[in-house]
Amino acid sequence: MFDIQEIRSQFSILDREVNGKPLVYLDNAATSQKPNSVLEVCHAYYTELNANVHRGIHTLSQLATEEMELSRRKIQKFINAEHDFEVIFTKGTTEGLNLISYILTQKLQKDDEIIISYLEHHSNIVPWQLLCERTGAKLRVIPIDENGILQLDYFDKFLSEKTKVVSVNQVSNALGIVNPIEEIIARTRKNTDAYIVIDGAQSAPHFNIDVQKLDCDFFVFSGHKMYAPMGTGILYGKREILEALPPFHGGGEMIATCSFDGTTYAGLPFKYEAGTPNVGGNIALGAAVDFMNRVGHENIQNHENALLEYAQRHLLEIEGLKVYGEKAKRTGVVSFNLEGVGISSDVGMILDKMGIAVRTGHHCTQPIMEFFNIAGTVRASFAVYNTFEEIDLLVEGVKKAQRMLS
Ligand SMILES: *Cc1c(COP(=O)(O)O)cnc(C)c1O
Repeated sequence: MFDIQEIRSQFSILDREVNGKPLVYLDNAATSQKPNSVLEVCHAYYTELNANVHRGIHTLSQLATEEMELSRRKIQKFINAEHDFEVIFTKGTTEGLNLISYILTQKLQKDDEIIISYLEHHSNIVPWQLLCERTGAKLRVIPIDENGILQLDYFDKFLSEKTKVVSVNQVSNALGIVNPIEEIIARTRKNTDAYIVIDGAQSAPHFNIDVQKLDCDFFVFSGHKMYAPMGTGILYGKREILEALPPFHGGGEMIATCSFDGTTYAGLPFKYEAGTPNVGGNIALGAAVDFMNRVGHENIQNHENALLEYAQRHLLEIEGLKVYGEKAKRTGVVSFNLEGVGISSDVGMILDKMGIAVRTGHHCTQPIMEFFNIAGTVRASFAVYNTFEEIDLLVEGVKKAQRMLS
């Protein structure tokens, strides 16, 4: 049974008011709210368990280590990784992508190619540009059509023996487009030896993830977009690949032996977890996975798809409102503008006065905005606790903004 009021009751923040109105939180693609079960784990960690991990033989250190490793195994299950040591704790998708692009430096030469897409978040663009600067490699970008759909015939033309990395997101944060990554992975494998990187920041909160079935080499996501605290994230990498590649950060915890004659590195996952990790946050990420499992992935997806369907239908009843991106290929996000009426931030400010939180602007995806020749969009994005009544309020709010701005 899916009981929306019961789910909402687990998120205390949803009871608060904003500008004298009940909060309507529709900015989940930027960060989700956290259920009380996750907050309680954070609190319990600092009140009962706080100690550094892996280093001490004292009881608290051992308990903290056990809890963090238990969380790692929950996440392993969550993405169906073959081994728990393929699950690396990071502070988010951005760190994961920077880590991957850095450790691949030695694998690329001048004129090699990295393929990304027009739909990428800046954090799946800039690290690859930096890698190109270091190595002389070139970036190739899969274009999109007017509906925001990737043009895979261009992708086919790009694939060659020069292709060393293919890095795309599973779901676009700006438009909510679900990309055909299964197809992209299959075509890459068939034609190249390239490393395949999937940015799952917007898919992990909504989909069942199976990295073995996907057969990607890397999969990265952020905890804070899937009900966990900020400063948490995961990098999944295939065992053979992570074992063969060099470390990223050097420091404590990532060495086997350290001397001035040379240092040997720890095995996985510690080789990629230098320094003191966010122990409490990483444990709470496991609690967020527990929360999602309790609600059920099918329930999450069905509810969010129903919200999207409802929002799209009612928003499009507003004359002059344009939604970006093919509806049949989207999840969790509706990105729109009121034609000829102010700019997206004007709409966002009026909605905020009504207690409605949306994101406006370019959503860290300036190339998409350039493609559509716009400065930004209004983006409403959904989580499992959103309701149809909240979408009614959004639609009313957008109508009001249109009246005020025209
Ligand atoms: C949010 C997001 C990122 C960056 O995630 P951080 O949590 O800010 O590191 C990268 N890619 C996509 C698709 C995103 O939505």
